[in-house]
Amino acid sequence: MIRASYFILVVLFIAFVSCRPEPPDIMTVTGPVSIKKMGKTLHHEHILVDFIGADSTGYHRWNRDEVVKKVLPYLLEARDLGYKTIMECTPAFLGRDPVLLKMLSEKTGMYFVTNTGLYSAYEGKYIPEELQKKTAEELAAIWIDEARNGIEGTGVYPGFIKIAVERGPLSELNRKVVEAACIAHKATGLVIMSHTGPALPALQQLEILKEYGVDPSAFIWTHANNEKDWEKLLEAARMGVFIAFDGFKPDKVDEYLDFILYMKKHGQLPQVLLSHDAGWYSPGQPDGGDFRGYSDIETYLIPAMEKAGIAQFDLFQLFFRAPADAFRIRELPVQ
Ligand SMILES: [Zn+2]
Repeated sequence: MIRASYFILVVLFIAFVSCRPEPPDIMTVTGPVSIKKMGKTLHHEHILVDFIGADSTGYHRWNRDEVVKKVLPYLLEARDLGYKTIMECTPAFLGRDPVLLKMLSEKTGMYFVTNTGLYSAYEGKYIPEELQKKTAEELAAIWIDEARNGIEGTGVYPGFIKIAVERGPLSELNRKVVEAACIAHKATGLVIMSHTGPALPALQQLEILKEYGVDPSAFIWTHANNEKDWEKLLEAARMGVFIAFDGFKPDKVDEYLDFILYMKKHGQLPQVLLSHDAGWYSPGQPDGGDFRGYSDIETYLIPAMEKAGIAQFDLFQLFFRAPADAFRIRELPVQ
């Protein structure tokens, strides 16, 4: 009798384990992908950014074939340098285009990850008026719907929550957007990437995360290179926050290298994310204006790091492991 019930328990356990939906590791524009397949990653780049404002932007502002023609050589260059995955950080109402990203993914064989969320810096210039009136819960519901049902019927799902706040103290609109991000994170497991800059708004956002019971490791402090007091960055890293030095340019080799060595010395390299914040096809400008490619880290920073004695293991940490840790979809609490 005991054996029979034991057998039933084992069968039930196996059934339970095999029926449990496996959360996808990261969500790309072509579907879920295991973090093992992400490969070398640039976690903060752009294809297209349209600064005309939420009231005037739209897909009518650019021709996808022309954008592809312009951008493709830069992406192929990145691919030839070994990059496999790019997080495209352009939010909705600033030029996010899931269909364009899918086209580029098919042409390059690279993985692209897009986002849901809203950019609430610049006093809401990039948020349509009707959305500004919504509550945090209502905004979160829109983002959760995109995560569950795809973006605008494209069949493309977001892989992270992208928000933006002012550089100074958080405005009321900023707070609402951060609260919405917390609610959406808890419902979807998507990481929160927040265009932030200095420490003051970063710490204020972490307070809101705490109120909502969101772990600091679900937060990417974007443009952290704008905070010059590195002790504050270290303190946040120790809490589990991902610290993004994401605006690399050739003239910033020394600054980035010093920061990497500083974080390594303090055992916090696993929290560091690097990228260029490059690209930026600009609709309305002839041929999309000045486009910046994605090769400067490879050309300038990595050789400098190797010269400074940074081990291959650390490079693996920075460009493979940290992006995977930051963007893997968190398991949802059992309801
Ligand atoms: Zn950016």
